[in-house]
Amino acid sequence: MATPLSADRLVAALRAEGVRIVERPGWRTHNRNHRGPWGPVHGVMIHHTVTSGTSKTVRICEDGYSGLPGPLCHGVIAKDGTVYLVGNGRANHAGRGDDDVLRAVIAEKPLPHDNEANTDGNTRFYGFECENLGDGKDPWPKKQLEAIERVSAAICRAHGWHAPSVIGHREWQPGKIDPKGFSMSGMRKRIAERLKHKPGGSTYTVRSGDTLYGIGERLGVNWLAIARANDISKPYIINPGQRLKIPAK
Ligand SMILES: [Zn+2]
Repeated sequence: MATPLSADRLVAALRAEGVRIVERPGWRTHNRNHRGPWGPVHGVMIHHTVTSGTSKTVRICEDGYSGLPGPLCHGVIAKDGTVYLVGNGRANHAGRGDDDVLRAVIAEKPLPHDNEANTDGNTRFYGFECENLGDGKDPWPKKQLEAIERVSAAICRAHGWHAPSVIGHREWQPGKIDPKGFSMSGMRKRIAERLKHKPGGSTYTVRSGDTLYGIGERLGVNWLAIARANDISKPYIINPGQRLKIPAK
């Protein structure tokens, strides 16, 4: 159980995790708090928008549409990994879901199948809408997946939560399919891995001729710390194209 982060704390947490953010005008007071409670919060919910085009997507998430007024989330995660903050407070993203799932999230236990819609999720979850058509064909660029990982980790870290506190809409509300196109359990693994390290790290893609020592020298990070962060042991072999986590200095 946790009190929702203030706008300033949310921004600080996201920045510390290396998230590129855009604060949309008015986002700090844009919410649905007049329609119901916001908090205590227990987790982060990931969605896809079924839209294309970042500016249009952001606008829809801000304003909503007839029958479902905005904000439709707290932040929009664009294809290029930029996160547009559109709401702060109760948002229309989660709808009603399964109380057994909520209990599992609170306990950070494996999720049961969602087969009930008896609990208001807009009170309990931060929501992030990812720009994607949701047809299983529209690609999920690496930068966007990395932003999902970072946003989720940032909020978990700020609240002292762990990866099981991050769920997909499809794991909450019967009939929902979002996010479609990547595995939420795989994403939770990435978030868990990120939470093992200090925030603010980055990634580096190995080029031919690179050595861990050389990369460490160039980035000003101890090369053995890079080896540890990536579970690389003697003889410290790395391969071109390999993506390394670079821990914070
Ligand atoms: Zn959704």
